[in-house]
This record gives sequence, structure tokens and C-alpha cells, in this order.
Amino acid sequence: MKYLILLSILSLVGCAETRYSIANGLETYVEIFLKEGSNRGKNIVITNLTIEFATNPPQPNVLGMCTLYSGEASIKVFQPAWDNLDLAAKEILMLHELGHCVLTRTHLDAYTSLGYPVSIMNTYLLNSLVYSANRREYLDEFYK
Ligand SMILES: [Zn+2]
Repeated sequence: MKYLILLSILSLVGCAETRYSIANGLETYVEIFLKEGSNRGKNIVITNLTIEFATNPPQPNVLGMCTLYSGEASIKVFQPAWDNLDLAAKEILMLHELGHCVLTRTHLDAYTSLGYPVSIMNTYLLNSLVYSANRREYLDEFYK
């Protein structure tokens, strides 16, 4: 089954109050996001972000969703699908959504000549084994 990861940009403009709230168990992925960026010379500062678990995705097979609305960045991670992902898939999903919500990246659905996605910003969740075997290259692409 192919899992979708959704982006919803309702508005990129506007100003909002500073909100920072990360659901229990998901802080570790924000730390990975910041650390791997720092390792690549990116000093990422997050001032406005909410990450929460949710049920009832807008479509079946949707694992996560970033919403940027009037300057507020919000990530929803859908259960129970999340609970069934392996660690690599959880990292891919969280980096993907942080890519939308913090780096304001959009989807990149290009593929290598071997048929592998070139980016974790692919619309579909990467295969965990492919990601793990090429993690450094995927992270280099992610932050470039
Ligand atoms: Zn996405």
C-alpha cells in the first residue's frame, strides 16, 4: 500500500502569535531535524509550530499533514497508522512534514534512473530500506 503525505497550504502570509507545542514522543524528530540541518550548515530557528496526533485523516492512507495558515504552522500525525510505521518511516514522515511547515518545501516527485524517489519530499512515503541505505544523500538533498 502506498501512503500519502499531504500538504495543505491555506495561506503563506499573515502574522500570528508565537506558538510552539510538540506532542509527546515527537520532540525527538524535531531534534533530529534541527541537528541534521545544523550538520549541513543550516541554522534553523523554529518560532511557530504545533505538532499533534490526530485521528480521521482527510483521506485514507494519509499519514501526516502540514497546514500553513496565516503564519501558523501546524503538523498533524495520524494514528493509528503512525503506530505501525518503523523507525525509519517515522523519521521520513516527520522530516517530510517539517520540510513543508518549516522549510516551506513543496513536493518533489522526481525519480532516479533506477526508479527511486530523489527526495523525501516525494508525495509518497519512501521505502524505509531505500531511505536507510541512502540516508546521508537524502538528508543532503533535503537541506540543500
Ligand atoms: Zn507532503
